[in-house]
Amino acid sequence: MVNCWHCGTEVIWGGDHDLEEEEEDYCMSTNLSCPKCNSFYIVYLPKDKEKNNDSSRSNNKTSK
Ligand SMILES: [Zn+2]
Repeated sequence: MVNCWHCGTEVIWGGDHDLEEEEEDYCMSTNLSCPKCNSFYIVYLPKDKEKNNDSSRSNNKTSK
């Protein structure tokens, strides 16, 4: 699990929120809260973006 940034106590999972339709760069947010110092965390999970940019490579096909 995740420990609190401030006091080191194990934080409590509050739930996940689907961001697929709201955020362009993130697909999910996770709410975490610390039971000791009441710190609140939201973790944003980035979407998996395909980084295959081989557009510079051109194939010269000869058609008959
Ligand atoms: Zn804490």
